Amino acid sequence: MRAEKDKATQRRAVIDNLVSSGYLKDQKVIKAMLKVPREEFLPANLKDSAYIDTPLYIGHGQTISAIHMVAMMDDALELGVGQRVLEVGSGSGYHCATIAEIVAPSHSSKEGHVFTVEVVPELAKFAEDNLRKAGYEDVVTVIRGDGSVGYPVEAPYDRILATAAAPKVPPLLVDQLKPGGILVVPIGSFHTYQDLVLVKKLSDGKLLRKDLGGVVFVPMVGEHGWRA
Ligand code: SAH
Repeated sequence: MRAEKDKATQRRAVIDNLVSSGYLKDQKVIKAMLKVPREEFLPANLKDSAYIDTPLYIGHGQTISAIHMVAMMDDALELGVGQRVLEVGSGSGYHCATIAEIVAPSHSSKEGHVFTVEVVPELAKFAEDNLRKAGYEDVVTVIRGDGSVGYPVEAPYDRILATAAAPKVPPLLVDQLKPGGILVVPIGSFHTYQDLVLVKKLSDGKLLRKDLGGVVFVPMVGEHGWRA
C-alpha cells in the first residue's frame, strides 16, 4: 500500500516536471500519464526505477521509451476519444496503455481502440500480459509480426505511431492513415540520431511533414525498416 502511494507520488512529480518544462501540454495526455502505472510495465528488477525519466532495458536488446518521449509523442498525436490507433513497436505495452487511456477511456461509449504490432514474439507476450493485468485487454490488440508494413487488416487508422526508428517514412504506414490522420515516426540513422517526424494527411490526401526535433530510438527492423 505504502509502496503504491510512493509510486503515485513519484509519478505525479515526474509529470508535473514535464508540464512545467513544456513537454506536456495536452490535458488528456497529462491525465492519462498520471493514471497509467509505468512500474507495471517493467521487469521486476526495474520497478523501483519506474519514475526515472530515461529509457529502461526490457530485454531482447530493447528499451521502454523515456517518460518525456512518450509525453511528447502523445501530445503531438492530438489524440481523442473514439480514435483507432496503430502503434509499431509494443515493447512493454506502456506507451500503448497511455494512448488507450485517451482514445478508449472506460466510461466512453465511442469505440476507440489501439492495435499494437511487435516483431519480437517474447516482447509481444510481455506487452500482452502487462496490458491485460493493467486492465486494457478490451481496448487493445497486440499483433505479432512486422509492423513496418503496418497492419492492413484493421486499416485505415486515425493515428499511427512508431516507437522504433526507420530509414525513411514507411510508405504503407502513410497509405493506412485516414484523411485528416497523423503519423509520428522517428526517421534517421541506425541506432544513433534520428528526427521525430510528423506526417499529416490532409483531407485531399496531400501530405504535410514537420520535424519535431532530434531523438534516439532503437531501429525498426523488417521490410520497410533496417534489414535484420
Ligand atoms: N513502445 C514501447 C517501446 C518500444 S521499443 C514501450 O512503451 O515499451 C521499440 C520496439 O519496437 C521493440 O520492442 C522492438 O522489438 C520493436 N520493433 C522493431 N521493429 C519492429 C517492426 N518492424 N515491427 C514491430 N515491432 C518492431
